[in-house]
Amino acid sequence: TIGMLAVDRDGHMAAGTSTNGMTHKVPGRVGDSPIVGAGAYADSSAGGAAATGDGDIMMRFLPSYLAVELMRAGADPSAACKMAISRIKRHYSEFFGAIICANTTGHYGAACNKTPGFTRFHYMVSNSKSDAPLLKSVDCV
Ligand code: ASP
Repeated sequence: TIGMLAVDRDGHMAAGTSTNGMTHKVPGRVGDSPIVGAGAYADSSAGGAAATGDGDIMMRFLPSYLAVELMRAGADPSAACKMAISRIKRHYSEFFGAIICANTTGHYGAACNKTPGFTRFHYMVSNSKSDAPLLKSVDCV
């Protein structure tokens, strides 16, 4: 999945996803990516989030919606992302997934679920302060 968050100078927030889904998916599978609140969510009064990973598990928890609501309640983007991942981890300790979060002031963060084969998540950030997109990464929790 490619997940993207965009915020303009006035704090308008947008989120989107593009995905080819899962390998060997059954015909007709929708997955989490196009489900609002699961694959992505944005609210210009709080922030935005976009998720990637095992959609069949993640979509049950609406992680993007949860992260945005946590930012609305005052969590910074990194903490909101971590809490959204931790919520799923409580039920599926080995799930594969990551999430990016940004708030309306342009602060951002990401989180991922640590498994033996997945310990660090990379994402790109672009803003008016830098000429080129920056590669960022976060240790999974
Ligand atoms: N979340 C996507 C899905 O389950 C897959 C992905 O993120 O790569 O359809």
